[in-house]
Amino acid sequence: MNVIILDGYVDEPTCLGVPPYVSPYVRYAAGAVLKTAKEHSLDLKLLYFTIDQLRGGVGFKEIVKADLLVVICGTAVPGKYLGGTPASASEIVRLLGGVERPVKVLGGPAAKFGFGTSGGRRAVAVPEGVFDIVATGDVELVVSQLIAERLGVERVTPDERRENASQIRDFAIYGAEIVRQHPNFPYVVAELETYRGCARSLVGGCSFCVEPSKGLPDFRPVKDVVDEVAALYKAGVRHFRLGSQPCLFSYMAEGVGELEFPKPNPAALERLYKGIRAVAPRLKTLHMDNANPGTLAAYPEECWRIAKIIVKYHTAGDVAALGVETADPEVVRRNNLKAMPEDCMKAIELLNEVGARRGENGLPELLPGVNFVFGLLGETSRTYELNYEFLRAVLERGLLLRRINLRQVMIFPTTRMAEVGDKIMRRHKHLFKSFKRRVREEIDREMLRRVVPRGVVLKDVLTELHEGKTTFGRQLGSYPILVGIPGVYKLRRFFDVKVVDHGFRSVTAVPYPLDVNTAPKETLMALPGIGERRAAAIERKRPFKSIDDFVSAFDDKAVGEKLLEYVRVS
Ligand code: SF4
Repeated sequence: MNVIILDGYVDEPTCLGVPPYVSPYVRYAAGAVLKTAKEHSLDLKLLYFTIDQLRGGVGFKEIVKADLLVVICGTAVPGKYLGGTPASASEIVRLLGGVERPVKVLGGPAAKFGFGTSGGRRAVAVPEGVFDIVATGDVELVVSQLIAERLGVERVTPDERRENASQIRDFAIYGAEIVRQHPNFPYVVAELETYRGCARSLVGGCSFCVEPSKGLPDFRPVKDVVDEVAALYKAGVRHFRLGSQPCLFSYMAEGVGELEFPKPNPAALERLYKGIRAVAPRLKTLHMDNANPGTLAAYPEECWRIAKIIVKYHTAGDVAALGVETADPEVVRRNNLKAMPEDCMKAIELLNEVGARRGENGLPELLPGVNFVFGLLGETSRTYELNYEFLRAVLERGLLLRRINLRQVMIFPTTRMAEVGDKIMRRHKHLFKSFKRRVREEIDREMLRRVVPRGVVLKDVLTELHEGKTTFGRQLGSYPILVGIPGVYKLRRFFDVKVVDHGFRSVTAVPYPLDVNTAPKETLMALPGIGERRAAAIERKRPFKSIDDFVSAFDDKAVGEKLLEYVRVS
């Protein structure tokens, strides 16, 4: 049997799977294929392609000859991505609509909630006539049934859901090896799930969020997550993110089903992190994603201990993304959100206290990121003022934020926002636009200057694309800072770079130390005090035999001396 997994990428509030991230969805689906085939002694070949490969003409030949095609896709939060473009409903129809042979299964958020399009818009329904099965339950269970039933579509239950987290243990381990087929491998980040479901589904959850439909948290045992990491590590993965859960600080929390904010469990977090480090001793990235600001405000002592544990075992540059959503108390109330603005401020302070110290890769150890959502019930022009004042207060208190994410609400049928739809967002479009511009100009750039001041060395920036004569790259990890390196450098290479300037959401940096005998003119021009004329003079006078030789080449020696912290002579 020939099976293909097509990764159309996913992005949910609690799971990212756009390159370089590989989501658990595709890994579990692959594990289900491999494990079930083994149990039924089936001779099976499994291939994995991404939608970007397909767009580039790779994989189509194999798809038309396959027996089973599993498509994973869906975005439930709006986003812009450098590493890939998620598949849209119309693209799926165009690419797969006429493909006859394989049994076609759709899984992931698109199957459960429809295809999210962009912020402020309603999701698009799954196109009819393309898929034989739309796995509205858990795609790995559906795929497992399908293979066990020798592709008998009518004998499969598309809405089968896992009864408990242990059910995916083996799938997660078997599926680890699929990452080797990812076009970015070995530069991939494995998104890890510690649990799914939200404790606040007890009180209905936030009005815009799809997570409550997954029920109450169902924690994966520490051993299961650690064993999965061991399998991924064995397959060659070195970058990990504990990103697939609504709040990492609530992993194994006590009181789920009784409390809106269960009590965090530092001992469980310590076991988890320690276990991961033991099985992946030379990992390069260990980051986290979401944290509920309401939990941090309600349990400052436990959360302070957890933040300390994270900083002890993780790698620097880590981000706890806080769902602040709004700083308007009325919007918090009307949408049943998790935290009042003062709670969010406390959470930001706590994370700064523990994590603001600069780490080994040039970035602070652990900083908060903040997410805001617009277009919610009760939103008025005053909401935009309050949000701005909140961010201004963060800046004025000298607190650091790693990222400010401003999103327009996406409307999904399973959420309360479906009742009002995109009406509010459409009405406030102009407010959103001008607010966004104001934040970018007045807050973002200043914050970025504080997080990565000029002269900081960022380690291991992976070059990803060229735009004109600039090379863009990022460190692998959570919410990496976009780095523009003037000059054309080889792609898929790691560089240490020194920051020379700041944009609103990106930095300009030069390779560090910069070899003045080989550096492109564009890079030389980015050095402090060097314009086009001096860069041309450097080019003319090289090769330099020593640093002294280089400094003496300047009309004004002081300019050359200022560059000593950036350059070397090969
Ligand atoms: S707290 Fe709100 S936003 Fe977070 S997962 Fe639960 S329902 Fe979603």
